[in-house]
Amino acid sequence: MTTTQEPLQDQLVADFYDYEALLPDDERKLLLKTRALMRDEVKPLVNENWGKDQFPTELIGLFRESGLAGLPYEGYGEHRPGVSNLLSGTMAMEMARTDASVSTFFGVHNGLAMYSVYSGGDQEQRDRWLPAMAAMDKIGAFAMTEPLGGSDVAGGMRTTAKREGDTWVLNGAKKWIGNATFADYVVVWARDLDDNHVKGFVVEKGTPGFDPVKIEGKIAFRIVENAEITLTDVRVPEANRLQNIDSFRDVAEILRATRAGVAWQALGVMVGAYELALDYARERKQFGRPIGGFQLVQDLLVKSLGNITASWGMMTQLARLQDAGIFRDEHSSLAKAFVTSRMREVVAWSREIFGGNGILLEHDIARFFADAEAIYSFEGTREMNTLIVGKSITGQSAFV
Ligand SMILES: Cc1cc2nc3c(=O)[nH]c(=O)nc-3n(C[C@H](O)[C@H](O)[C@H](O)COP(=O)(O)OP(=O)(O)OC[C@H]3O[C@@H](n4cnc5c(N)ncnc54)[C@H](O)[C@@H]3O)c2cc1C
Repeated sequence: MTTTQEPLQDQLVADFYDYEALLPDDERKLLLKTRALMRDEVKPLVNENWGKDQFPTELIGLFRESGLAGLPYEGYGEHRPGVSNLLSGTMAMEMARTDASVSTFFGVHNGLAMYSVYSGGDQEQRDRWLPAMAAMDKIGAFAMTEPLGGSDVAGGMRTTAKREGDTWVLNGAKKWIGNATFADYVVVWARDLDDNHVKGFVVEKGTPGFDPVKIEGKIAFRIVENAEITLTDVRVPEANRLQNIDSFRDVAEILRATRAGVAWQALGVMVGAYELALDYARERKQFGRPIGGFQLVQDLLVKSLGNITASWGMMTQLARLQDAGIFRDEHSSLAKAFVTSRMREVVAWSREIFGGNGILLEHDIARFFADAEAIYSFEGTREMNTLIVGKSITGQSAFV
């Protein structure tokens, strides 16, 4: 007997194996809400602002009204019981499918910053900061990377924290910090001069000595404002030190989760690029027929669909490991390294299908192509994530 399944409303052409159907109905509704927000409200803002290298502040209001922030944090978002990692990941995918910069603005706030407070803060700190962040009345940022410390920042952090009674004094510099030019709360990581361990501090907007300056001239992620920050005798109360962070090991637990989010984002970039290329291949005619009718073009499309389908399966199982609480650093590192590498292939093949039009912003694909480069490098480069997995499978550290 054959069973015919009703086609899912709004099913993505790139979801060839129907992964989306694994979401329960209530979660799928939230995904469809995200899809509608991105398609109807966010998409019209994207190209103009990307071209002008500026962050459209109306995005904050759009996301605030959507109620989509805070969903993963039980008790804080609009959906108070919390949601599955599969939904959180699929939402990150959905946002990046429209625009990677916008998904990063949201991911830095809702992932890196909120998760730092959720997992690194004590109950009083969660209650103090998370409700306003979940409502998007306050925006967060996450300041780890430094001008001289990127891949080696764990062992080589130069920003320092010195305790003076009930106050901490922070000094140093940070680089690449998304949202930091306007964020209300910036989670700053610094090395305690007394015990040499990395600690986390919530620095509030306007604190004297905290000076974020927008980085100009990026060729990717032009909608996100990334800042270089100097910290000069920035004084922060002990009450703003994340109480459950004792060393970099605790920070690694945060990065494990957010790295998975970036792999989902890379999947979204693949999906968005493939959809654009498929549409173009059906419409664009050369030699009297749509270019999608040429074998060599079909080869690029099918290889892209294979990358998407394999990556989506990997991410789905990763989310299950997260939900089951048996998720390790090497699991998210393998996903980040693998999926971003597949993404790089898909954006290049998709751009290729557009020929010369592939370098014009108005056709969207050029934006995906450029943004993919940043995703490939941030939250641990491919090399760093490869070394994490390599150490896990061989028992040998090859970092130095
Ligand atoms: C758009 C964007 C947004 C970002 N947002 C944030 C943010 O919000 N907050 C934040 O804290 N950071 C952020 N970052 C920083 C990001 O995480 C770093 O760029 C990343 O960790 C890499 O560090 P790096 O750029 O200093 O490169 P480097 O560490 O200098 O690496 C340069 C190259 O050397 C390779 N390399 C280094 N060491 C080794 C080794 N042992 N073996 C083999 N190869 C090696 C790297 O893989 C890379 O290819 C952002 C970056 C970008 C580009």
